[in-house]
Amino acid sequence: MNDRILVVEDEANIAETIKIAIENESYSCDWTATGEAALDHLEKVSPNLIVLDVGLPDMSGFELLKLIRQQHNTPVIFLTARGEEIDRVVGLEIGADDYITKPFSPRELMARIKAVLRRTNNSPETKSDSNSKKFEVNDQQAKISFQQQALDLTLAEYKLLSGMLSQPNRVFTRTQLLEIIWDANHPSEERTIDTHIKSLRAKLKEIDAGSDQINTHRGIGYSIST
Ligand code: CA
Repeated sequence: MNDRILVVEDEANIAETIKIAIENESYSCDWTATGEAALDHLEKVSPNLIVLDVGLPDMSGFELLKLIRQQHNTPVIFLTARGEEIDRVVGLEIGADDYITKPFSPRELMARIKAVLRRTNNSPETKSDSNSKKFEVNDQQAKISFQQQALDLTLAEYKLLSGMLSQPNRVFTRTQLLEIIWDANHPSEERTIDTHIKSLRAKLKEIDAGSDQINTHRGIGYSIST
């Protein structure tokens, strides 16, 4: 069966554009214009993904996501207004999987939707079957190789990279990355995330100068492509 996507957006023209883009890719699409209607809908239908506008008439998208998260783990992509970095950070920290800034192209949105569905539909086995893997993580030995070459990583870099690789393309905020590398003996600040990322990038470039696996999301955090 095709993946089913719920769009929660009060502006009919935006919702219509999204619905057309989703249906063009052979997914099913439902649309609700309010948070209440979305909650009613979720009682009856379990979508594979929700596209959720932050600015809804009856409640904010954040409030709605908190209510949804009490019962469902459905992946969520937030639609946020331009310039509202804080919205993106808050959205990701309360459990959204990704965000996209208005105005966006349908093509950009579909790329995000597909990336999130790929990540959430894939079982661990199908992921490790892939032959074209750039990264290999060895949990037992706490080692990661990139393009078949072992990386020489500090413990924090290892935790950071393996954490991000567990969810490729997911945008992690600095706070979330700090939780990943948390070490009670060596507490660090959000700034240190940037330092670790810089060092990781340099190590990846030593192996492949043209590589660009780590993406910066300005004012928000980082994601990794595999
Ligand atoms: Ca709105």
